[in-house]
Amino acid sequence: MDRHQRIVAQVASKVKDYFIRKEPFRISHGSTNSTRPNLKKRVVDISGLRNVIQIDKKTRTALVEPNVPMDRLVEATLPHGLVPPVVMEFPGITVGGGYAGTAGESSSFKFGFFDRTINEVEMVMADGEIVKASEKENADLFRGAAGAVGTLGVTTLVNLRLIEAKKYVKTTYYPTRSIAQAVKEVREHTEGKQGEKNDYVDGILFSKDHGAIVTGEMTDYLPPNIKPQTFSHALDPWFYLHVEEATRASDEPVVEYIPLAEYMFRYDRGGFWVGRSAFTYMKFPFNKFTRWFLDDFLHTRMLYRALHASGIATRYIVQDMALPYPNAEKFISYTDKEFDIWPIWLCPLKQSEQPTMHPHTKGELKDTQMLNIGLWGFGPQEPQQYLSKNRALEKTLGEMGGMKWLYAHTYYSKDEFWSQFDCQWHEGLRTKYNAGGLPDVHDKVHVDIQKYTDMAQKDWGMRLKNIWPLGGLWGIHKSIQSKDYMIHRNSTWKWKRLGASRRWWWWW
Ligand SMILES: Cc1cc2nc3c(=O)[nH]c(=O)nc-3n(C[C@H](O)[C@H](O)[C@H](O)COP(=O)(O)OP(=O)(O)OC[C@H]3O[C@@H](n4cnc5c(N)ncnc54)[C@H](O)[C@@H]3O)c2cc1C
Repeated sequence: MDRHQRIVAQVASKVKDYFIRKEPFRISHGSTNSTRPNLKKRVVDISGLRNVIQIDKKTRTALVEPNVPMDRLVEATLPHGLVPPVVMEFPGITVGGGYAGTAGESSSFKFGFFDRTINEVEMVMADGEIVKASEKENADLFRGAAGAVGTLGVTTLVNLRLIEAKKYVKTTYYPTRSIAQAVKEVREHTEGKQGEKNDYVDGILFSKDHGAIVTGEMTDYLPPNIKPQTFSHALDPWFYLHVEEATRASDEPVVEYIPLAEYMFRYDRGGFWVGRSAFTYMKFPFNKFTRWFLDDFLHTRMLYRALHASGIATRYIVQDMALPYPNAEKFISYTDKEFDIWPIWLCPLKQSEQPTMHPHTKGELKDTQMLNIGLWGFGPQEPQQYLSKNRALEKTLGEMGGMKWLYAHTYYSKDEFWSQFDCQWHEGLRTKYNAGGLPDVHDKVHVDIQKYTDMAQKDWGMRLKNIWPLGGLWGIHKSIQSKDYMIHRNSTWKWKRLGASRRWWWWW
């Protein structure tokens, strides 16, 4: 804790300096899952805040610094037989980023967004003051900083709730044959007795007439003669390809047993399916052998390094959009017609209480649940066309009562943006907590594609990156340079890395 306090004091002093000089700053922790171009120079580095300080088995809580990524967190809690209720699918997403951003996954239909599983946060406010926030203390700040992308202050410590972990997830793939069926069934699996029984629910639409709803129940039981299915080894299948194959031919549900951590990070290899785009871009064959051969490059950390460095992020559509259930089918039909991007991810989400900076439904469409739609694929290459397609997407989403997650590109004008949230509430918090000098949420998430294109035209490095395949090769070079492949190679949560006897010891 001494080390923690020392680093927090340094962060506070740096933040105070910027406050006095009235200069905005960016938070850096060494990695990011955001896809926005990274242009700001003034940085508060919190990469030293990267430890799990304590796991308390009795109170089922973890005291965690913000720069702890999901894989390190799970590796720290599992030996105590505990696990966070919401673990983001990408192992590199951090606890601080999960609280400051919008983060949710297949258990979020039950527990809500990641911040709803937090008891208390410590924050360095914009004026350098160190405060605590929870439902009991500074409750407005606790709720208001969640999803506000760091515009109220820097999170420096999190007290996280934990739940009992079991060894496996009994996973069922329910084949679906239309968008309407998938939207209807994904909700049914989150409700009533089914919803109580299921710990995890999400879905993948491979095309208009083929999808799968994936449900998971934690269990310690492994039926005799059943081999657990894993997804972390280079020879394992990518999760989405495996589900596609399992549900293609028959309408019968398919059941498998997946070790818990393997289930949590099942989408890491291939970054859901975004990794396939790297093969398309490089005009490289996409098959079992090439996926095995290039495995080190195809984990999310490496993919994101490459995506950022290559400059391809500015042409790629990476959007998660939460919609009211009644309009989800219509919206997917729209994206099919306008973007033809498949697969699509479905993730049911329990809404946060309003006001909130998370996506939410309002008015007649107000509900306790909404459906997240993940649309990730190449957009038009020409910047103006890319922009107008994205603007049309924002407009249609708004008309259907849906909202974007704020990790990605947003093109809304300030007024359009703030018409979606309670601006008065958010600005009130920024005034109360002296955060007026920091950029506001719109400033942080808005992408000015024109400005970026003009800049790219003047910068020879950026111009070179636009020439195929130089951007891709530069991305590969930067990801190798980061050595992030060592992280997944050395991860201890992987099932196959442990010998059978150590596996049991590891649990207790
Ligand atoms: C392609 C893609 C897929 C995604 N899929 C999922 C998914 O499956 N499940 C899911 O839950 N989420 C998903 N996300 C969203 C992700 O959880 C959020 O974007 C999250 O905020 C990323 O955390 P990070 O650690 O990478 O933080 P960053 O991207 O570095 O930061 C996110 C924001 O939070 C701010 N921030 C970071 N740390 C702090 C801190 N300590 N104090 C104050 N502010 C801070 C940053 O300034 C930034 O504005 C996805 C994002 C992308 C781009």
